[in-house]
Amino acid sequence: MHDAPLKNYIDGQWVEAEAAGLLPVENPGTGAVLGQVPLSSAEEAGRAVVAAGAAFPAWSRTPAARRVEPLFRLLERLRADEEALARIITEENGKSLPDARAEVKRLIENCEVACALPVLGQGDTLVGAAEGIDGAVLRLPLGVFTLAAPFNFPGMVPFWFFPYAVAAGNTYVAKPSEQTPLTMQRITSHLDQAGLPRGVFNLVHGDRRVVEAFIAHPLPKGLSLVGSSRTCRAVAEQCARVHKRCQAMGGAKNHLVVLPDARVDEAVRNMISSCFGCAGQRCMAASAIVAVGAATYAAVCEQLVQACRKVRVANPLDPAVAREAMVMGPVISAKAKAFIHTMIETGLREGARLAVDGRGVVVPGGERGHYVGPTVFTEVRPGSALHRTEIFGPVVVVLRAESFDEAVRILNCHEYGNGASIYTQSGYWARRFKLEVECGMIGINVGIPAPVAYLPFGGMKGSQFSDIKAQGRAVLDFFTEAKVVTERYWPEAE
Ligand code: NAD
Repeated sequence: MHDAPLKNYIDGQWVEAEAAGLLPVENPGTGAVLGQVPLSSAEEAGRAVVAAGAAFPAWSRTPAARRVEPLFRLLERLRADEEALARIITEENGKSLPDARAEVKRLIENCEVACALPVLGQGDTLVGAAEGIDGAVLRLPLGVFTLAAPFNFPGMVPFWFFPYAVAAGNTYVAKPSEQTPLTMQRITSHLDQAGLPRGVFNLVHGDRRVVEAFIAHPLPKGLSLVGSSRTCRAVAEQCARVHKRCQAMGGAKNHLVVLPDARVDEAVRNMISSCFGCAGQRCMAASAIVAVGAATYAAVCEQLVQACRKVRVANPLDPAVAREAMVMGPVISAKAKAFIHTMIETGLREGARLAVDGRGVVVPGGERGHYVGPTVFTEVRPGSALHRTEIFGPVVVVLRAESFDEAVRILNCHEYGNGASIYTQSGYWARRFKLEVECGMIGINVGIPAPVAYLPFGGMKGSQFSDIKAQGRAVLDFFTEAKVVTERYWPEAE
């Protein structure tokens, strides 16, 4: 453990935080304290915003090709540090090492895409918008942008935003999750060496007070926040009141629909990693399965229950399991575990059948960790609290529908609309599913339909409180103003 609290990174310097208090950063698998995170004050957040504001004029005038040079250098450093970064993610978040490595790969991929800004950031021109008049779209940076990240992807989520913002000529202040701040701390030390001018990227640790300070401060032009829908709704309302851009990506209850013609054995194998990888704490984790027809429902329930019994729950850094792809680690905190237990009791009260009970799982050496084993409820009523609520843990509910249309209705009546997948061998049903289901990310025989960095990432309905999604070319719309110039020149007088 490091005794000294983490430092903030403001105006190119590591500085001791002016903080209202400290929180321990815990390894959720062992309970070991890994460090102390400062809960920075609003004034401290303001200093970072002012530093970013001062850096903006020169940075925004820097040629695009020169702005991405530090990102290329960052890429080299990240690639050289992949394994250490994955280990930090596993230590502070509890996901398995293969999952952590996959997260590092995806954040690197986003940085690579942002390096293409000189191409991606080009505007459009319409020669001949009217008689002798041309129209041109200038994609211009706006100023300071801010970020609040969630605990579950401490490295990847910041990379959905900041490399694009900075490449586009904006300056940035990021706040990691107070539960998992160590990954971005290390990445910021690479940014410090990558040659960004001071003030272009800043890191401030803390909790909601920092986010509220970002919104209240007059300088920032916008906020990207990824977190629970409750948090998203609160910040989206605050940003609207002060006329700031806001991208807020919220909670989920991702459904997997199994049709009678599906390969149930393959589907169940696929479901296990979708439902229980990262202990069910991925925003794209499946947590509701809808089986169509009595025979499909019976087959899915039986095979899923059997497959759950083979899932290994362990401390992901235990050398005995470090090489296994499907190891389920802890959930993030004692509070998260208590909530999951409450929801299991709610399910029982509602009359659902607890087919696999993950409570009371014992992990040798993990007595102070926060483990919950795979948990499966069957005979779940659509619209019950168990079905409605984002549990964000390894709890799966299985529902039965009598037809494709009923399955689609169950999904479309749900508050959330992040991801959804269908298992079928039929192109007809697959096509109808992708067109009719109100979710932002659709899978066909794919359990985790998370888009690669070249494509937009984001949901619909109660999972997304903004029009513009994360990553890829799409996110540049958030970080630039599309100023349109309409111009004409009269002929020279003869
Ligand atoms: P959270 O909402 O508790 O916190 C997210 C961030 O917001 C943190 O940085 C936190 O400090 C800050 N915050 C919390 N409350 C706030 C408030 N009232 N005002 C301003 N800021 C506040 O979320 P979490 O528990 O860290 O992350 C898990 C949640 O994130 C889940 O709901 C998950 O579905 C969601 N998530 C969504 C996506 C997506 O793509 N839609 C991706 C990852 C995670």
